[in-house]
Amino acid sequence: MAIKTESVQDMNVDYNELNKFAELAHRWWDKNSEFKPLHDINPLRLELIDQACILKDKEVLDVGCGGGILSESMSEKGAKVTGIDLGEKALNVARLHQLESGANVKYRLVSVEDLAAERPESFDVVTCMEMLEHVPDPSSVVKACSRLVKPGGMVFFSTINRNLKAYLQAVIAAEYILKLLPQGTHEYEKFIKPSQISAWGRQSSLDLVGTKGMTYNPLTKRYSLVSNIDVNYIIYFRKYQ
Ligand code: SAH
Repeated sequence: MAIKTESVQDMNVDYNELNKFAELAHRWWDKNSEFKPLHDINPLRLELIDQACILKDKEVLDVGCGGGILSESMSEKGAKVTGIDLGEKALNVARLHQLESGANVKYRLVSVEDLAAERPESFDVVTCMEMLEHVPDPSSVVKACSRLVKPGGMVFFSTINRNLKAYLQAVIAAEYILKLLPQGTHEYEKFIKPSQISAWGRQSSLDLVGTKGMTYNPLTKRYSLVSNIDVNYIIYFRKYQ
């Protein structure tokens, strides 16, 4: 079902991408659903973020928060979290889940670019996970995230690298062989090299702090953080003081 609305026209958004998530939205918190990989990697990325910036009492913005898997877990670490997304259904699911969990998260349907104009330099930490590969202009998202974070604050992105190995693992293996994700979840042309994100970061006052790879072992069915960033990776920055 199409979910194009007045408020999200002419933005940095691909409606086909939003609709893919809208169709699955009711299963967001089902740990055995299409969202299983996000549930499985969540403890790993949460620990990395918490170790890099200590979430307790921080003002955190989670961009492209979806049903709130990372947002809620960051609030459990004591952060005051705002979650934004342009998927209305995902936000509804996030709000419903919050009623049960009592998580301290404010959810808003707003683009990252609009929020950057409204509240520049408002957050200690900005996270933007598994979203850049779904937007038409990822550099605009990186720039907006940088505008939103306070000087000295940290910004975390995760996405998929662009090379043959990433295509074979993230598309062919994950979607067609292991069926970890629905077919069509990811489009190779939208994958992003870490060097591209760092270049956009440099242009937006973001200093590269580190990178980490995330890999899946089909034998143990477990994910782990590794130094190899050939496929799925997290890349994080600090904004110049
Ligand atoms: N960040 C969450 C969800 C990742 S799924 C997590 O890692 O757990 C990708 C999310 O990006 C979906 O919720 C989708 O609605 C959102 N999204 C896609 N394009 C977007 C855009 N242009 N602006 C904001 N959110 C977008």
